[in-house]
Amino acid sequence: MRRALVVGNWKMHGSRASVDALLGSLTPAVADATAEIAVCPSYVHLAQALELCAGTPVAVGAQDCSHMASGAYTGEVAADMLSDLGCRWVILGHSERRQYHAESDDLVAAKLTAAIAAGLQAIVCVGETREQRENGEAEQVVGAQLQGALAAQAGLQDLVVAYEPVWAIGTGLTATPQQAQDMHAFIRQSLAAIAGIDAAQTRLLYGGSVKAGNAAELFAQVDIDGALVGGAALVAEDFQAIVAAAG
Ligand code: PEP
Repeated sequence: MRRALVVGNWKMHGSRASVDALLGSLTPAVADATAEIAVCPSYVHLAQALELCAGTPVAVGAQDCSHMASGAYTGEVAADMLSDLGCRWVILGHSERRQYHAESDDLVAAKLTAAIAAGLQAIVCVGETREQRENGEAEQVVGAQLQGALAAQAGLQDLVVAYEPVWAIGTGLTATPQQAQDMHAFIRQSLAAIAGIDAAQTRLLYGGSVKAGNAAELFAQVDIDGALVGGAALVAEDFQAIVAAAG
C-alpha cells in the first residue's frame, strides 16, 4: 500500500510574513489529513517553516541541495545542513534547475547520493518538453533521466519520483489523467529494471498545474500516488483541497 503524498514546491516565493500566514492557515486545515504532506520553501524560510510545522502533519523539505559534502563552494547548501536543520525532504532535478542552471543527469545523480547519505528523502523530478512529446520522444527522455539519476545508487528504498511534463509546469496546461497514468506506468516499469528499487512500493507523484479542480481525477489513476504542486501550493485553501483529494 503506497500512502498518498502531496508536496508543495514554493519556488522563489514568499516573505517571513507570507510564510507565517500560509502555514498558519494550512497546518490546522490539514490536521486530520490521511495523505502525507510536505512543503518546500526557499532555503531562507526553512527554519521558520520548521518551527511553524513542528507538531503538525506537515513536513519540511528543500528545493535542491549541493552534490558536495562541505567545503569552499560559495552559495551552496549541503544535504547534511538540511538534515541537521530538521528537513526531511529534498526535491532534486526539477526542470527549472535543469533549464536555468544546466543541471545534467550526472549532477542530479551526485546530488541524490549526497541527499541519501544525509538521510534525506529525495523527490527526483523527470519530464519531457513539449517538443520532445510532439516528436514522440517522451518515454525515451524520461527513461534516460531515470537511468542517469538512479543507476548504481544505493539506498533507494525511500525514493519518490515526480513526473512533471515541462510543458505543464506553471502553464495551466495539465496532462490528461490518461497521459499522466501512461507515463507513470512506464516509469514504474522502468524502475523495476533498476537495481535496489522496489518499483511496486515507490511513490510516483504527478506535477504540472495540479489544482483543486483536477486533483481528484489525477489521483484516481492507479499509478499516481500524489502530487508535486507549484502555484496552488501558495494558497492554503487550494493546497488543502489537493491534500483532501489525495486522502
Ligand atoms: C512545480 O514547479 O513543480 C510545478 C508542478 O508547478 P505548477 O504546479 O505551478 O505547475
